Amino acid sequence: MTRPTPKTFLVKSFGCQMNVYDGERMREMLGAEGMTPAEPGADADLVVLNTCHIREKAVDRIYSDIGRLLKRSDGERPMIAVAGCVAQAEGSEIQRRVKEVDIVVGPQAYHNLPDLVAQVAKGGHALDTDMPLLSKFDTLPRRARRQGPSAFLTVQEGCDKFCTYCVVPYTRGAEISRPWAAIVEEARALVEGGAKEITLLGQNVNAWTGEDETGNMRGLDGLIRALDRLPGLERIRYTTSHPNDMTEGLIQAHGDVETLMPFLHLPVQSGSDAILKAMNRSHSVDSYRRLIDRVRIVRPDIAVSGDFIVGFPGESDADFEATLQVVRDVDYALAYSFKYSPRPGTPAAGMESQIPLALMDERLQALQALLNEQQHDFNLRSLGRRTSLLLERTGKLPGQLIGKSPWLQSIHVIAEGAAIGDMIEVEIVSAGPNSLGGAMLEMAAA
Ligand code: SAM
Ligand code: SF4
Repeated sequence: MTRPTPKTFLVKSFGCQMNVYDGERMREMLGAEGMTPAEPGADADLVVLNTCHIREKAVDRIYSDIGRLLKRSDGERPMIAVAGCVAQAEGSEIQRRVKEVDIVVGPQAYHNLPDLVAQVAKGGHALDTDMPLLSKFDTLPRRARRQGPSAFLTVQEGCDKFCTYCVVPYTRGAEISRPWAAIVEEARALVEGGAKEITLLGQNVNAWTGEDETGNMRGLDGLIRALDRLPGLERIRYTTSHPNDMTEGLIQAHGDVETLMPFLHLPVQSGSDAILKAMNRSHSVDSYRRLIDRVRIVRPDIAVSGDFIVGFPGESDADFEATLQVVRDVDYALAYSFKYSPRPGTPAAGMESQIPLALMDERLQALQALLNEQQHDFNLRSLGRRTSLLLERTGKLPGQLIGKSPWLQSIHVIAEGAAIGDMIEVEIVSAGPNSLGGAMLEMAAA
């Protein structure tokens, strides 16, 4: 049965920043096809759920979201596309489970979304979970001309590390680096569109390598140094990094590249060498600590961030205590911590000594209490500091704007005469656990 071609769309992204980036590219692509974004709160003709498979909870949310879409008050249902890592991992099983899902499209195939929509409009279902090398980026349209002040740019995808708990190597495929020229071109387009800050993204972003315009092999530090010269680009960030790919060159860049922000997200996952070994992380707690020390020598004010998993199979009280100890030693400005979630098909899911949920809950609470305290302390130490602030959105109070400090802290400010996209100077006058209050000093020189 044929169906009308959708005129309006909604793309909803779950999970990591790379999904946020993919979601933006899908919106730009559907826009280029003549579709328009649905008004906030209005029903869309096409709904794309750009999914995350990293933990079980993330997957469950997708099925409850689909359930809601099927209960629309007007009795109609939109064309439904499941994209992202759940699409890649579950493929046609999704359509077997919920026949109303019209399209299943993997993270390396979403450039085909308009064709898949056209196919469904002619009648039937569509599925594309191919992993062609890089063709997605080759065929996506140039970045939209209007950008927010802070933009994401995927430079690297996939993972060859195979941590025993993680689905990414299966859902995103092998590690690949986008070519230098394509990245520089996209960064230029983003800046022309209004971006002042670019966050370079990759599952292991610091594994990025490629030839520069003279044919020399460069690492992520070389790319950052090239982007540093891009007129109008004022801030560069990158995430997520793996400790094993933290090169001396990248560490040095934190010391001398002015636009590289003093923030490093470097997950350790556990403070126990035995657990790191079982996780196949291939770094030790000590090598991780030494990395942090080296970065702090070149950039003493750097804000360090991390990821932690509690309750990995076999984690003893002593292993967990070792995690608390590495947290105390490193002193994090911000961190993400998760209960271990067994993922189908990963080696850890079949390991003995799975940890009971109640114990995981207890450990997560203790870890988060410590991390929250450190985050609050980091914020309190910012009191009185004068810093730049890139304004990104409006706040709840009249005249209030919100942006980020170089250390990725949210700062609220009443900024008369300033607008979203401006870089202003502020003094930090208040500090809470999750955000700071600033007083505007002046507009920063461009
Ligand atoms: N490549 C990055 C690294 O090696 O640190 C991480 C990318 S992963 C998408 C983001 C985070 O999700 C991981 O750092 C880990 O803490 C968490 N994660 C991954 N698999 C998980 C699982 N099965 N259960 C709980 N957390 C998990
Ligand atoms: Fe997952 Fe490990 Fe790869 Fe990070 S390095 S994406 S945690 S397999």
